[in-house]
Amino acid sequence: MKILIIGGGWAGIAAAVEATERGHQVLLVEERPYLGGRARSFIDRESGHHIDNGQHVMMGCYSAFLHVLRVLKTDHLLEPQRALSVSFIDPSTIKHVLDASALPGKLGVVAGLLRLSGVRFGSRLACVGLAIRIALGRATGTGLTCLDFLQQQGQPDDIITRFWEPLVLATLNAPLEKASAELLVAVMRLAFLGSRDESSLLIPTCGLSDLIDPLPSWLQSHGGDVHLSTSVDRLDVQNRRCTQAILSDGSVHDVDAVVSCIPQRALGRLCDASAIEAKLPATPEASPIVSLYLWYNEQWMTDELLAALGTTVQWVFNKRRIAPGLVALTVSAGHSIVGLSQDEIIQHCDAELRRLLPEARRATLQRGLVIKEKMATPLLTPETERAHVHHLQHEIQNLALAGDWTSTGLPATIEGAARSGIAAIEHVVVLG
Ligand SMILES: Cc1cc2nc3c(=O)[nH]c(=O)nc-3n(C[C@H](O)[C@H](O)[C@H](O)COP(=O)(O)OP(=O)(O)OC[C@H]3O[C@@H](n4cnc5c(N)ncnc54)[C@H](O)[C@@H]3O)c2cc1C
Repeated sequence: MKILIIGGGWAGIAAAVEATERGHQVLLVEERPYLGGRARSFIDRESGHHIDNGQHVMMGCYSAFLHVLRVLKTDHLLEPQRALSVSFIDPSTIKHVLDASALPGKLGVVAGLLRLSGVRFGSRLACVGLAIRIALGRATGTGLTCLDFLQQQGQPDDIITRFWEPLVLATLNAPLEKASAELLVAVMRLAFLGSRDESSLLIPTCGLSDLIDPLPSWLQSHGGDVHLSTSVDRLDVQNRRCTQAILSDGSVHDVDAVVSCIPQRALGRLCDASAIEAKLPATPEASPIVSLYLWYNEQWMTDELLAALGTTVQWVFNKRRIAPGLVALTVSAGHSIVGLSQDEIIQHCDAELRRLLPEARRATLQRGLVIKEKMATPLLTPETERAHVHHLQHEIQNLALAGDWTSTGLPATIEGAARSGIAAIEHVVVLG
């Protein structure tokens, strides 16, 4: 079967690998000059360093993502933590560590939560109680925002602000009062209540694009092809089937099946929108992520990563593997600062780091870079989850839709995107 895959983000990448492994001939078309979509790296001209478009956190439970890396033989570029370990720091400058290494599997996370200092013991017990109810399927969060869900589940304020809120911001890129609790439950079940390996963070030793660098040659060696800097401008649909694709370079390609891995808002470009969109809910609002890279004159950070509490900066990542003294900061759901200038953001966040971390005070900031991804992820709320219809069912038989915005059952993440790409291939191969 000749399968056209439109869009070279993680949905398209996983779809291309899946289709090729099933013995199909793949044409992957990406309108930008690079693969990776919203999870990519570039070479910073001033420093020559490989910089991501925003720090991404991957976990051992990212099975679809990890499968691609194994196929491309780039999995060694990620360093798995021995067990989940995250330090939390607040304006009192005392670090509190969530460390799951004491016991295997789920028990490690439970023991880590019970020993998490900076939170009252009763609150830790309440948190563990909720984790157990989630694991047993007794707390589903259906139809609720995270805030309503956590309050309904008796979570005290200190555990909400010191554990649940950073987790929701990092994984759902949305504030507690908007984010879908159903997706928080999915994250807990997948990431924190599985084996020790599944809950461990994977620390990249390279830029995000290095992980997928071998993909074009791997596809070509298996009879497929990749066209970069080329968009799919039109799909010819006859008798409810896509028959041909017209690309921006004027070439026309016969196709047996098509997997679209582009954002929902771009679908109308491909064909008569009514054929697809009639069955889709309205495109959700986008939620921004502001990322900063700060180059200091010396290596002051000792932790791999830190969750910052009570500040605009939410996460601090040690990028010593890229360059000594380099740190990356993340502000998810960053509406409050996305409108500020680069200099204002750099000064504000540098000052926060110095307040939070005494060891940062001795270092001199040499340079900062701000990356604003205004459309980082769709804002997935209880309303968008309710409206989600199955994205594989629409008028065109041999077309399947994939991407982090589709109903993956996960938040908008690399893993959600990759799983949707694989599901879309299964769909067109079986039904197309
Ligand atoms: C700053 C930031 C931080 C993030 N942090 C994390 C994190 O820590 N962990 C995590 O798991 N996820 C994170 N995410 C989310 C993750 O990056 C996305 O969910 C995922 O990359 C989406 O992949 P996708 O394939 O669905 O879409 P995209 O990556 O958007 O890919 C779609 C591709 O389609 C192409 N395209 C569009 N129209 C056409 C056309 N007509 N023809 C050809 N090509 C077309 C686009 O150019 C694009 O490359 C983050 C995102 C951002 C922006």
